[in-house]
Amino acid sequence: MRIDLNNWSPSEIVRDLPTPVGIKAWGKYDESLQNSQMAIGATARRRRRPRAGAGGGVDQDRRAGVCASDLHYAYEWSLEIMPHLAAWELPVTLGHENGGWIEGGDPSWEKGTPVVVNCLWHCGNCYFCRTGETNYCEVAGPRGMSGGLGRDGGMAEYMVAPARCVVPLSSIDPADAALFTDAGLTSYHAVKLVLPRLQPGTTAVVIGVGGLGHLAVEFLRELTGAKIIGVDRSEAALQLAADRGADLCLPSDDTTAGKIMEATNGRGATAVLEMVGIDATLKMAVQCLRQRGRVVMVGIGGGSYPLSYTSINAGASMISSVGGSMAEMAEVIVLAEAERLKPHTTKFALDEAPTVLKKLKKGKISGRAVLIP
Ligand SMILES: [Zn+2]
Ligand SMILES: [Zn+2]
Repeated sequence: MRIDLNNWSPSEIVRDLPTPVGIKAWGKYDESLQNSQMAIGATARRRRRPRAGAGGGVDQDRRAGVCASDLHYAYEWSLEIMPHLAAWELPVTLGHENGGWIEGGDPSWEKGTPVVVNCLWHCGNCYFCRTGETNYCEVAGPRGMSGGLGRDGGMAEYMVAPARCVVPLSSIDPADAALFTDAGLTSYHAVKLVLPRLQPGTTAVVIGVGGLGHLAVEFLRELTGAKIIGVDRSEAALQLAADRGADLCLPSDDTTAGKIMEATNGRGATAVLEMVGIDATLKMAVQCLRQRGRVVMVGIGGGSYPLSYTSINAGASMISSVGGSMAEMAEVIVLAEAERLKPHTTKFALDEAPTVLKKLKKGKISGRAVLIP
């Protein structure tokens, strides 16, 4: 058989995707059920403990982090903003930031092994999976085939994940590691996208120092010699940024970009990690950018910036970023197990999930919330 990676049809590869949750029928998205279809606890399909040995996946007793995107999924997003929701298998249990212990499934995984699950599942066969960029998988990612992102996720007693998407832990507790699978991994990948440019003497800005942003500050501190500037509306978040190694913390308003220009002798920042994604913060990101600088768009706030030849500094770029690869997932765990990261988490009981989502909506969660059944 001739292999042409660029021309493989996703539908051929999909048959090989080992998700015990089942991929035989794509979920039909019913717009009128948009909000009520997002479950916390477990959907009808997964109320019971999964049986071992099913479909090559890994069943876990688990802990789930609560992400701002859960909020959007549960209450705000529509098919218009997120067309990929059409592929979601509804109803779906939320929770895409997961850690736990192996319960059964793939026999090569020993029961009781502590693990985390990459927030973006991958098929293992497509072009990007084969080149190692599994977070850009053309089959699983955009087709709503990750746990909590189209398939049942971790805000339940048990979840099922493909074995290839799981990374073992050796010293940290899954409850403390869950946030590394999205908040950690997504911010790590964003930093990796600007890493070669961040020589000592350059400046990196993190806009939005929440669950992802505070870890982005930590990765910049661990991996670069750049000056780090944290920007947020909240005083508590700026305190967190300072505590995690930001050299300068600035409240977010109309004057922030100007202050960043001043702090960089009028040159601007080489990298801006934009963790919010609304019109105002995207504009700020571009306004404080150096020539040849790069804005990494991570936040999914639904905003936009009118990009044109003259609306951005010479040679500068804006790039979107999603999740992180399996290799990057392992790298984040290595850093965490070496105790070089200090994630800021608050733990809640699984039953409290609806309240936690409401608190998150009001900006009342500091760092990352983790649900424990
Ligand atoms: Zn997320
Ligand atoms: Zn793939």
